[in-house]
Amino acid sequence: MNPDYDVIIVGAGFSGVGLALKLKRAGLDNFVILESEAGVGGTWWVNRYPGCACDVQSHLYSLSFAPNPNWSRHFPPREEIQSHLEQVVKQGNLLTHIHFNTKVETATWNEDANLWTVTDQSGQERTGRVFISAMGGLSKPKWPEIEGLNDFSGAVFHSQQWPEDIDLTKRKVGVIGTGASAVQFIPHVAKQASRLTVFQRTPNWILPKPDRSISSVHRWFYQNIPPIRWLLRLALFLLLETRLPAFTRFPKLAYFHRKKAIKHLQSQVQDPALWDALTPAYPMGCKRVLMSNDFYPSFNRPNVSLITQSIKCITPTGIIDESGTAHEFDALILGTGFEASHPIPPGLILGRNHTDLAEAWSAGPEAYKGLSVHGFPNMFLMLGPNTALGHNSVLLMIEGQINYVVDAINTLKKNAWQSVEVLSDSQASWNNQLAKTLKRSVWNAGGCQSWYLHPTSGRNTTLWPHTTIRYKHLTKRFDASDYSCK
Ligand code: NAP
Repeated sequence: MNPDYDVIIVGAGFSGVGLALKLKRAGLDNFVILESEAGVGGTWWVNRYPGCACDVQSHLYSLSFAPNPNWSRHFPPREEIQSHLEQVVKQGNLLTHIHFNTKVETATWNEDANLWTVTDQSGQERTGRVFISAMGGLSKPKWPEIEGLNDFSGAVFHSQQWPEDIDLTKRKVGVIGTGASAVQFIPHVAKQASRLTVFQRTPNWILPKPDRSISSVHRWFYQNIPPIRWLLRLALFLLLETRLPAFTRFPKLAYFHRKKAIKHLQSQVQDPALWDALTPAYPMGCKRVLMSNDFYPSFNRPNVSLITQSIKCITPTGIIDESGTAHEFDALILGTGFEASHPIPPGLILGRNHTDLAEAWSAGPEAYKGLSVHGFPNMFLMLGPNTALGHNSVLLMIEGQINYVVDAINTLKKNAWQSVEVLSDSQASWNNQLAKTLKRSVWNAGGCQSWYLHPTSGRNTTLWPHTTIRYKHLTKRFDASDYSCK
């Protein structure tokens, strides 16, 4: 039985679009992208909170084979990233391949026919020889388990589900969380709300963000003399890559950055009584290092307060903290992160013998090279387990994965194989090696709680602990010897 498509991709973010572009350039035109949202961008389409931007420099936060010489700032705002991806889709003639508003309900491996059957919310079935999950690891918002959350009578929403029509002007607002998303939206909310109360469970290390607009003269050079852009990208890449040893082997190397972060805090927050509360007690890097120029100054405003008491419960009118103090709000914003340890919902991906990927991953997601899972033939994961980064641009990892997947599909076709499935030994030895390296890293041994670690097993199932160059090298070719190929 011939499938409808050679490749079915789920998700039109950077990885789905980047892969599609490379497939097309390789002459592999018979693919479809199924996207649950109404536009391209993935996380950059969905997250629409005020101040949403990337904390990786623009010229590094783009695909090397689909660059953007027109970035307006050194750190790209959300809108610009999203419209850049739209341009990539347009210029690559990818639009006809994408089905928007198409939410995949199940993807099932058909053992007899050696293909995947993918069913969307309307019940429509599509079959594909290869199935690619490009759904991202941070797409499912995490609602905190706090008693009474459902009883709150005002507006309550997660940062990823920011209502288009919400007006916080002159309203009393509570924010739970002070992570990467919250530090971006809190300064905006602080300017609107009559009263803003921020509930911080754990402080973060925050560095100044060296952001500024890119002048038209610089842009002219980037547009007309590409080697200048390449050199800038290389310099940014090397700058970020040198951060790795401080996270993996030598935490003392973070000394100067730590000093810089403390100086940043103390120069920006006027009230010294807040300095301790905003200074982390864990080594730098254990949680994602943040960058912001306007988060700390928010606490100088008379309408903003920081609560470090833990939350006892939520009532219809607000929050009661551990000291028994009641805080009343009209709106409650949850900057509480994502379900990174359960990226795939139960019942979504069913492999050989109907094995549910969510169940196979109950002790934590794991894959071979972050891409392939034993028991799930002809399936590749973009940004799968242990391929997120704590030190550099994740697009470098995505590019390695794109190379690998395109080579795998070419190899499959060339050899007229019907299926490729990673060997369980290869997967186990890959993950044993990773676990050994991660054990001594600041992410595992730093003593903090973070979404990098699986909540029950404690394993680090998210981060890549080596250089991105190494990953690029390891994903240069599809290594058929680690797969059962039929
Ligand atoms: P996050 O970093 O996981 O932060 C979640 C925040 O909510 C933390 O402060 C956490 O406190 C707090 N929290 C969670 N549950 C809580 C509870 N029950 N009670 C009190 N506080 C609670 O989530 P995020 O800010 O959405 O960012 C997630 C990831 O998205 C980032 O690490 C990053 O990879 C990505 N991101 C990237 C960018 C970018 O610029 N590239 C921007 C935004 C997000 P604890 O620290 O105590 O757990």
